[in-house]
Amino acid sequence: MKREIDFIIKVLFILLLSLISILIIFTKPNITLRGNEVMEVNYNSEFKDPGYIATFIIHNVTSKVKVKGVVDTTKLGEYKIEYDLSISGFKNHKTRIVKVVDKKKPIIELSGNGNTCPGKSYIEEGYKAIDEIDGDLTEFVKTEVKDNSVIYSVSDKSGNNETITRKLNIIDDVKPTITLNGSDYITIYTGSIYSEMGANVVDNCDDTPKLDINGSVDSSRVGKYNITYTATDKSGNIESVIRTVNVVDRLKDGIGKNVYLTFDDGPGGLTSQFLDVLDRYGVKATFFVTNQFPNYQYLIGEEARRGHAIAVHTYTHSYDVVYNSVDSYINDFNRMNEIIKQQTGSYSNMFRYPGGSSNTVHCSRNPGVTRLIADKMLSMGYQYFDWNLSSGDASGYPTRDSVYRTVVNNVGAVENTVILMHDIKSATLAALPSIIENLQSRGFTFKTLNKNSFAPHHSFGVCR
Ligand code: ZN
Repeated sequence: MKREIDFIIKVLFILLLSLISILIIFTKPNITLRGNEVMEVNYNSEFKDPGYIATFIIHNVTSKVKVKGVVDTTKLGEYKIEYDLSISGFKNHKTRIVKVVDKKKPIIELSGNGNTCPGKSYIEEGYKAIDEIDGDLTEFVKTEVKDNSVIYSVSDKSGNNETITRKLNIIDDVKPTITLNGSDYITIYTGSIYSEMGANVVDNCDDTPKLDINGSVDSSRVGKYNITYTATDKSGNIESVIRTVNVVDRLKDGIGKNVYLTFDDGPGGLTSQFLDVLDRYGVKATFFVTNQFPNYQYLIGEEARRGHAIAVHTYTHSYDVVYNSVDSYINDFNRMNEIIKQQTGSYSNMFRYPGGSSNTVHCSRNPGVTRLIADKMLSMGYQYFDWNLSSGDASGYPTRDSVYRTVVNNVGAVENTVILMHDIKSATLAALPSIIENLQSRGFTFKTLNKNSFAPHHSFGVCR
């Protein structure tokens, strides 16, 4: 009997031990990670912990878990996140590994259109390779020409490779470019010799494009002669350019005729350069001045000291102001004339209408006021001056050449030519030396205007 009791006690004791061990195993708090324990996250992306659940016996103790560790996705590498749980001395611990990885390929950008000349090797038009992490990888790009294509490839430090292909177009549809030696408009005198100055031709594909020059100049006869330059490349693209040679008769042309250079709208930022050009050639002109650029008022005095004539072109040069009424014109005129008096010591008795006496812009302010202004101003002893040759420098897109041609081709049709120009125009400044040289060599006499000189008058602008 005692033996049996001993045996039962032993069995109970073992059962008790087992129960305790099972309890201990089950009472260990439990952490379950959501997602993978080792995970990858892209560089520069947002890392979000997928989360976890913790239980103790049958209770949810998720909120008791302490999480440690930061994932910096702006730096490649391995990061650890530690999850710790401790309840009444029972502990558990989990770790998650987060790898910040670079999976983005570099970007290759091509410049140009891939056009390449027939029979020639492709001239690289340029490329760029940029990687989000490694930056500029352009110098590591490998290129390979293959079957009318260029293949570009590059890898970043993480081994991400990008390969792109440029398709080449074998084409030559670009005309040669002709650059004339000398101007495309030349004036020479009868009896002189025109010697061909030639032209330069360049072509994108053809190193030796063909140039034909056709036309001739008979310098014994007055007239305009065209020389045609035609360039042809190997692919048959043709370009042509014309040079005009104007043969004029030096002896008859300008002798006994007067030219009056007149400059409106200044003084301004270019005026002192105009004065220097005029000085260089010993030519005197007439300046129709305004106060549009008050910083340059002092140049009115300078113009007078250098022997030029000064006339009023109104203070504001504003159509709205000056063509409001006869009185407002005269007020504006007087304001300008006061400045002229301050700068030069005397008033001017000459004026020019903004837009000329033939303007019709006044019609929208006070129709017919230009004629009334003339009546009043003439009765007060003033004279006004229009022009009989406009250089065209105030309309469209004047160039040195256009201003030059307009003047030298049209001057001298009459005994007195009053030429309208503007000393605020750079094209005019550029053309002025060659204009003066041309007119001087043709024998014209340069004159300045005064109250009793030749005074061209337009017909008054008619308002409809
Ligand atoms: Zn003007």
